[in-house]
Amino acid sequence: MNSKNTIGDSDLEALRLAVAGQVSVPGQADYDQARQAWNLTVDERPSVVVVAESVSDVVEAVRYARTHDMRIAPQGTGHGAVPLEPLDGAVLLRTTPMRQVDIDPAASIARVEAGAKWQDVVVPAAEHGLAALAGISPNVGVAGYTLGGGLGWLARRYGLAANSVTAAELVTPLGELVRADAAHEPDLLWAVRGGGGVGVVTALEMQLYRVGELYAGDLFFPIQRTAEVLHAWREWTASAPDDVTSIAHIVRVPPLPEVPEGLRGRAFAIVEAAYLGDADSGAELIQPLRRLGPELDTFAMIAPSALGELNMDPTDPMPAKGDGAFLADFPAAAIDALVAEVGPDAETPLNSVEVRHLGGALARPVPGGGAQPSIDAGYLLYAVGATPTPDLAGAVGAHVRAVKDALAPWRAGYGPYNFDETPAGAAAVLPPASFPRLQEIKAAYDPDQFIICSRPVWPIRP
Ligand SMILES: Cc1cc2nc3c(=O)[nH]c(=O)nc-3n(C[C@H](O)[C@H](O)[C@H](O)COP(=O)(O)OP(=O)(O)OC[C@H]3O[C@@H](n4cnc5c(N)ncnc54)[C@H](O)[C@@H]3O)c2cc1C
Repeated sequence: MNSKNTIGDSDLEALRLAVAGQVSVPGQADYDQARQAWNLTVDERPSVVVVAESVSDVVEAVRYARTHDMRIAPQGTGHGAVPLEPLDGAVLLRTTPMRQVDIDPAASIARVEAGAKWQDVVVPAAEHGLAALAGISPNVGVAGYTLGGGLGWLARRYGLAANSVTAAELVTPLGELVRADAAHEPDLLWAVRGGGGVGVVTALEMQLYRVGELYAGDLFFPIQRTAEVLHAWREWTASAPDDVTSIAHIVRVPPLPEVPEGLRGRAFAIVEAAYLGDADSGAELIQPLRRLGPELDTFAMIAPSALGELNMDPTDPMPAKGDGAFLADFPAAAIDALVAEVGPDAETPLNSVEVRHLGGALARPVPGGGAQPSIDAGYLLYAVGATPTPDLAGAVGAHVRAVKDALAPWRAGYGPYNFDETPAGAAAVLPPASFPRLQEIKAAYDPDQFIICSRPVWPIRP
C-alpha cells in the first residue's frame, strides 16, 4: 500500500465532524504537540494526527485512513516511538485520552483502555490488594508495553505481562471492532500477547495478582565500587528465588536542582530489588548484598503501587539515546567488559546502564501463552544517555553502541522487543518459533501492512 496524503480540505472537515477527538495536520498550531513522542529526539511528521477519545474515534480514523489509501500508526504515550519507521504520508492515531480503567476485584481482572499508563492501573488495583504486572516506570503505556511482552518488578514470579492478558478489544485493519479471547479470535489474542498485535487495540483485559506489601528498595554504592557490587550481585542472582526480581544499575545523576542534594551530580552502582515476602525473610535474602556496606539503603515494606519509584526513571518527556539487548548470561568477563565501558574510570555520557535479572517464571514457557511464551535469556542490558542538545546525540549514540558491542559475546539469540531501539523487524525481537505464526496471522488480517507497528512483520507470507 502506498502512503500518500490525498486528504483534501473537505475530507478533513468530514473527519473532524466524525470524531470527537482532535484532528491536526502540518501547519496547524496544535500539530507539533499532537505528534510529539515521549522521547523528544523523535521527529515524526505524519500527514494527519487523530487523537482518539473513544472506540468510535478509532474506527473512524481507521476507515478514513483506508479510504484515503494511507497507513495508520497507533500510539499511546510514545515511549516506544524510537524504532518506528517514518510516518510521512500516514495517519498517527494517538489513544492518549482513552484512560478508563475498571477493576473487577472478585475476578482479579482489570479492563484497561489503550491510552492508560501503568500508574492508572496500579493505584486502583492496590485499593483491592491487587497488583498488575506493571512496567518499572509508572508512566509507560499499558498497551505498547504489553504488546511487546512487558517486563516489570514481579516478572520472575509471574512472568511477562503479555501472558496475563485474558482478552483484547481491537479494531481490525478493516475497521471492525472485535473482541479477542480464548474462545474468539485466538490468533489475534496470541499476537497481542507479545507479538505487537495486529490492528488497533482499544482495551486490554488482564489478570491481576493478590499482592500485599513487598520488601523492596535500593542499595546505593559509590561508583568506585561498581566492579565489586556487580560481581556480588551476579553471584547472588545465581541462587535468588523467583520471588525476587532485581536490577544492577549504574547511574550518573545529573546536577539538576530537583535532585536531592546527597545524590545530585554524583554517580552510583545501585542494586534494586523487589521481593514478594515479609521484612524478616527479605532482610535475610538481601544480607549478602547489604553486607557490602551501602552508602544508602532504602529497603522497606512498600505497597506495589510504590514500586514505580525504585528505578528512578524520568517522568517527563526528554531527549535521549538508548538501546538494549538480551544477554544469555552475565559472567565475570561480561561484568569486566561493562565496567570498562561505564565504570568509575570511564568517560561516558550515559546516565543509566542497567542489567536486569530474568529467569524464574520468565524462563518457563507459559502453556497456551502468546508470541513471547518465555524469554530465553538470563539477563537484560539497557543503556541510555540524555541528549539535551541535538549535537550530543551522535556521541551518546556511539557510547550506547559501544556498551552493546562490548557485551556482544554474551548476547542471546534475539533482541528484547521492548528495549531494542535499533529499528528492526519482528523477526529480530521474537523467539524464532513465533515469527512464522505471526507472519501467517499478519498475512491473514493485514496483508498490505496497513497498520504501522514498531516491529514490522516483513516479509508478509503469501
Ligand atoms: C522510561 C522508560 C521505561 C521503560 N520501562 C520498561 C519496563 O520496565 N519494562 C518493559 O517491558 N518496557 C519498558 N520500557 C519500554 C516500553 O515498554 C516500550 O517503549 C513500549 O513500546 C512503550 O509502550 P507505550 O504504549 O508507552 O509506547 P508507544 O510509543 O505509545 O507505543 C509503542 C508501540 O506499541 C504499539 N501500540 C501502542 N498502542 C497501541 C494500540 N492501541 N494498538 C496497537 N498497537 C499499539 C505500536 O506499535 C507503537 O508504536 C520503558 C521505556 C521507557 C522510555
